[in-house]
Amino acid sequence: MNPAYSVVVPCYNEEDCIAETHRRLTAVMEGMGEPYEILYVNDGSRDKTPQMLGELAEKDKHVRVIHFARNGGHQIAVSAGMDYAAGDAVIIIDADLQDPPEVIPQMAARWKAGVKVVYGQRRKREGESAFKLLTAKWYYRLLRKLAGDIFPRDTGDFRLADRQVIDVVKNMPEHARYLRGMFAWAGFKQEALLYDRDKRFAGVTHYPLKKMLRLASHGVMSFSEKPLLFALWAGLGWLFVSALLLLWLIIALIATGSAAHLVLPFLITLSTGSLLVALGILGAYLARVYDEAKGRPLYVVSHTLGFDKKPDLPPGTRVKA
Ligand code: UDP
Ligand code: MG
Repeated sequence: MNPAYSVVVPCYNEEDCIAETHRRLTAVMEGMGEPYEILYVNDGSRDKTPQMLGELAEKDKHVRVIHFARNGGHQIAVSAGMDYAAGDAVIIIDADLQDPPEVIPQMAARWKAGVKVVYGQRRKREGESAFKLLTAKWYYRLLRKLAGDIFPRDTGDFRLADRQVIDVVKNMPEHARYLRGMFAWAGFKQEALLYDRDKRFAGVTHYPLKKMLRLASHGVMSFSEKPLLFALWAGLGWLFVSALLLLWLIIALIATGSAAHLVLPFLITLSTGSLLVALGILGAYLARVYDEAKGRPLYVVSHTLGFDKKPDLPPGTRVKA
């Protein structure tokens, strides 16, 4: 029988956190009184994390461990956990106890009430630098401007999602994974659950600025075509200026009989504008190619009514209805 809950925990060099994380997670999951499994994804750790997870798996029959052959990154580790998870609901939670496991029963209650995705929304963030708080705030503003406001505010990957939504996200084969965006994209009934994000239990962050920037760029580039079209708008702007210059040139020519000084500015704006427009058109086609390359399902069905048997669906729509 499938467990009711699968908890997915990505772990990268978390030897100082794992014992305490497992203790707190287990206390919460046992308290819920339904079958569960905990999937630890060892994302190519180089400390004692692999051995510690091995011991947990020996002692505790709820534990599953997936060892990566090398570090694949947090989003990939979570994706692997989702692939292996068997539960009717999947909970994604960090290994460092920044996301308090004690919130899970509240998430589960909302799920039982029919909500398909309950995402943790941060009310407070403890122990984060002012720089991180500020950049995160501006980044999410920018993202919502570029990609539309499908993205909820102050939301990381801590969430509980129904099997149906997990299957949709699993069927999105893109490599540049920005899971919180992919969940938002899937649709269904989603709801925020406010929580206070704690300090890391022990150890240091494994998200240095470089990884953070990469994740941030995945967010923008996987969900917005707008940057590709900037050149088009800039080019149209230059062409508008060149049209004004042409008008001025003609008036000057008629009025004074000489407009030689305006010829060069006119030609420069005309050629800059034309080049940028050409680039923008390339961008527009590239956006199409990129969209196809992502290979996302065409549509997401939440449920169907009145069919005797399921039709043969084309690939890319392999969504369980
Ligand atoms: N993590 C991972 N692979 C990585 C980096 C991080 O699996 O390459 C895990 C890490 O063990 C933790 C979670 O992802 O469970 C979040 O990472 P971290 O706490 O370092 O990031 P922060 O909370 O500082 O953004
Ligand atoms: Mg953390």
